Amino acid sequence: NRQIVLASRPQGEPSADNFRLVESPLAPPEQLADGQVLVRHHFLSLDPYMRGRMSEGKSYAQPQPLNEVMIGGTVGEVIASRHPQYAVGDKVVGMGGWQEYAVVNAAQPGLLRKVDTTHIPLSAYLGAVGMPGVTAWYGLMKICEPRAGGTISVSAASGAVGSAVGQLAKSRGCRVVGFAGGPDKCRYVVEELGFDACIDYRQHATLDSLQAALREAAPQGIDGHFENVGGMVLDAVLLQMNAFGRIAVCGMIAGYNGEPIPLRHPQMILTSRLRVEGFIVSEHMEVWPEALKELGTLVATGRLKYRESVAQGLASAPEAFIGLLKGRNFGKQLVKLI
Ligand code: NDP
Repeated sequence: NRQIVLASRPQGEPSADNFRLVESPLAPPEQLADGQVLVRHHFLSLDPYMRGRMSEGKSYAQPQPLNEVMIGGTVGEVIASRHPQYAVGDKVVGMGGWQEYAVVNAAQPGLLRKVDTTHIPLSAYLGAVGMPGVTAWYGLMKICEPRAGGTISVSAASGAVGSAVGQLAKSRGCRVVGFAGGPDKCRYVVEELGFDACIDYRQHATLDSLQAALREAAPQGIDGHFENVGGMVLDAVLLQMNAFGRIAVCGMIAGYNGEPIPLRHPQMILTSRLRVEGFIVSEHMEVWPEALKELGTLVATGRLKYRESVAQGLASAPEAFIGLLKGRNFGKQLVKLI
């Protein structure tokens, strides 16, 4: 069983030598204990939160221990089972980590979930019909509160979370404005995902210029904003928010390597009487069934689109992860194992 472990903690940007590829023997299936299931991973999910776990600083999640398999979401196939509800061949989603196989105690609630791949591709359970999709759903529905005719904006708009936020907001009758890095991502967001506008923030060196572009894209002001990045985009949004607007603070990826994220206009929270709320999707398990049901239906019927960046093979995971923190991915970042 080939695995990638955390070899050392990064200072600033992670690098390849923070990870180590190791090989450890896999116990034969007949040695599985009661309730255990052996899963062969097809895809690993790479997610921005993993950067936080690599450090020891204050965070909502426990740091990842050194020399242990990198934690992470996985989808795969059951190849041996000693649990009555799982059969060989079942497709499952779990938290198997950066390794080719995982032995999972399926008797423990929440560790493994069987999924139906008749109408939804297996990999989508790590993206639009998985944790990132539910994140989009929660932040939008419970915090941004989209109302028909209102305007919703979202940063990292072409990504796993952002792309779902915008499309869900469109389905609620909103005008939707995205922010993304580069012309290709912006074109995709408007032409494929159906956003009304997308601002390539890299084209704007100053807040004045970004703000002018946003005024044009959101002429009626912004009622709900979904923040994934932090920095100048957030400042421009604060200046364009309508009174009693709502901001869901989902991510601050611009600061995950330890950089400070300056905010020049926090006074706008008061001036515009904004509600600004951070959230962690795993603390709201009560909405998962409802959110997954809607997301699953939308994906199965082609009404929710998504893109994937797929790195090939376990050994490619560290580079792909480093790229994710620099915006090199275009859509949900996955690693394909088989
Ligand atoms: P994405 O698929 O959106 O990929 C990350 C994107 O962020 C990149 O493509 C890039 O987009 C942008 N980005 C990366 N690095 C930087 C940087 N240094 N400065 C500015 N932009 C950068 O990832 P996800 O959809 O998985 O995650 C989006 C956000 O949601 C993250 O902040 C993540 O931490 C957060 N999240 C929060 C959860 C919660 O429970 N609160 C749960 C899941 C995700 P571009 O090129 O367009 O700038």
